[in-house]
Amino acid sequence: MQSKVYHILPRAKRYKYESGLLGKFEHFLKKFPLDNYVSKKEVVPLKIHLGNDGAFRTIRPQFVQKVVERVKNIPAKPFVTDSVRIAGYDYLEVANRGGYNHLTLGAPVVIADGIYGNDSIMVEAGELLSKVAIASAIYDAKSMIVLTHAKGHIQSVFGGAIKNISMGGVSAQPRNGSWKEGRGKMHFLHGDIMKWNKEKCILCFDCAKICPAECITFIDNIYSVDDKKCFRCGRCARVCPEGAIEVPITNEVFMKAVAEGAKAVLSTFEKGKILYINFLIEMQPECDCMPIADTPVVQDQGILISDDPVAIDAATLDLVTNVMPLPGSLAEGITIEKDKDIFSILHGKNAKKQLIEAEKMGLGSLNYVIDQVGD
Ligand code: SF4
Ligand code: SF4
Repeated sequence: MQSKVYHILPRAKRYKYESGLLGKFEHFLKKFPLDNYVSKKEVVPLKIHLGNDGAFRTIRPQFVQKVVERVKNIPAKPFVTDSVRIAGYDYLEVANRGGYNHLTLGAPVVIADGIYGNDSIMVEAGELLSKVAIASAIYDAKSMIVLTHAKGHIQSVFGGAIKNISMGGVSAQPRNGSWKEGRGKMHFLHGDIMKWNKEKCILCFDCAKICPAECITFIDNIYSVDDKKCFRCGRCARVCPEGAIEVPITNEVFMKAVAEGAKAVLSTFEKGKILYINFLIEMQPECDCMPIADTPVVQDQGILISDDPVAIDAATLDLVTNVMPLPGSLAEGITIEKDKDIFSILHGKNAKKQLIEAEKMGLGSLNYVIDQVGD
């Protein structure tokens, strides 16, 4: 059976609020039967990525506020949430500076795995991860709305709904465990630490500067990692301009691990209780956890809504397939390969792999039909 994906087009063809993307989104939400997913009086997580200082291309607070408003009309009780990616207290400060706070959104902003990042519940995952720690504010929820800023990602190639629930729903450091039960296991399945190539290293120290655990040191210009403090986020390897840091995992295994993480998060909900909203706006080449916002690689494609995470991510990738890269962006001048999405071309790996794995695990369907909303 085909899953339905609603598509709100990005253009504003008239100078009227109702013609703009925010107005069309508000109108869609008012008509959409959200009470099929969210029950009255329920406390509902709105799962987003809260960004980073410098990463200003996250979902604009105005769109999140419209979802808050609609959930309150049910009436239910929304809160905006993500799990710890940098220290929890600092992450809330980042969120506030990015415009995500109770005043702007009309709902509390809460760290899903607590201010220390260790409030989580162990859940069975799959053959690769075995068990993972689900952030408790997500684990305890009966329904959820997943708001995802679509973008590229050096390791997972593409960041969509599946990556959002997987990486963002699983804690980094569970209270009675380690990165081995957290999202670090997706990045570093077998537990080896990164390999440093001295010959390639130009001693720029970008890896040490980005490390959220402050566990990379260079004594006498020799790289060293505190194995106990490192929670295996992989960011040091992603920022290294010389490819001098190697993460011991293949792309295939990583993609499957991400799908397994998503499956573990979804296992804590009854079927049909999650709605996904992908924002195909300002799609930059890398994740919102980086301390920068690069220029978008393709033109805005609007907003997608579905209750199938595989279908919505497949539709997202299809909308950035066979499109022209934006001049002045990282994608400028790349050779467009027929039927390949821009993120796969840019990062030299197949973005659809995580969706294929997710479909095999029963998370949803790659077979979808688009229902276009408005003009
Ligand atoms: S980011 Fe790469 S090149 Fe720069 S210091 Fe670290 S390992 Fe060396
Ligand atoms: S993987 Fe790299 S950036 Fe992440 S915590 Fe470990 S050393 Fe730091």
